[in-house]
Amino acid sequence: MASRRVCLLGALFAVLSVAIEGHSASSEASVASKARRQLKEEPNPNDGYDYMQHGFDWPGLQEGGTTKYPACSGSNQSPIDINTNQLMEPSSRSGTSAVSLNGLNVDGAQADGITLTNAKVDLEQGMKVTFDQPAANLPTIEIGGTTKSFVPIQFHFHHFLSEHTINGIHYPLELHIVMQEQDPADVATAQLAVIGIMYKYSENGDAFLNSLQTQIEGKIGDGTASYGDTGVSIDNINVKTQLLPSSLKYAGYDGSLTTPGCDERVKWHVFTTPREVTREQMKLFVDVTMGAHAGADVVNNRMIQDLGDREVYKYNY
Ligand SMILES: [Zn+2]
Repeated sequence: MASRRVCLLGALFAVLSVAIEGHSASSEASVASKARRQLKEEPNPNDGYDYMQHGFDWPGLQEGGTTKYPACSGSNQSPIDINTNQLMEPSSRSGTSAVSLNGLNVDGAQADGITLTNAKVDLEQGMKVTFDQPAANLPTIEIGGTTKSFVPIQFHFHHFLSEHTINGIHYPLELHIVMQEQDPADVATAQLAVIGIMYKYSENGDAFLNSLQTQIEGKIGDGTASYGDTGVSIDNINVKTQLLPSSLKYAGYDGSLTTPGCDERVKWHVFTTPREVTREQMKLFVDVTMGAHAGADVVNNRMIQDLGDREVYKYNY
């Protein structure tokens, strides 16, 4: 893993040095000063943690003499390996139903299909996308006898190594759509539900990722956005046609946020049929991460956590 990162960095620096060698002295200086303007000083794009140890160090991080993120050493943590030969029948799960995707599974061209409007992307490591929160035809999950609606609040990417593995295998890209229970009593303790979508390498790639890459490269190219910017406007996004996989088979389990504070309040829904991504499309994640923070890790996955006493359930199989 470490050598792979070094190779990636080496390749990137080789490209950079070739590019700079091709310029005259004055344009070389201008390229260098532009690069300095774009690169933030600190290598760590996140709030007091990084991916150098893939999260191994998060439980031990201290602040003012106390453990900063105590939940990160909990027994119901994410991500996990999903062994598709050991998935349990949903009927044996108590207290949690299947997710009803409702508007997320209806084409935006049809009535009640959810299209994410006023979408904005952060040109940072995780490429977080926010949007106007949809209010109708929301996904629902019955939890403890109460049917709760969940509002999609953002999605983001984990790149070059997926967070979850399926039968021990990492995918090159994992998308997380984060949803929060509607009208929670307290946002800090609100029930969360996350949809995980994998991408596998292919020659065909993905139309949404292609569109995202084209939009971002266009804005960087014409100077209307810089790496490290947050809230860069992008086109509307339809969840069913642009984000969901072709099969809705998924693995469901109780887990946590995969970033500090690692809160154990997440109903996970990891789709086991991947979408597709090309190697050229993956370059977007290198450009954005390294463009925003010199020295940041291009890979942003937390290591696999112990399943412990938990079961993982199969849905739509
Ligand atoms: Zn995530």
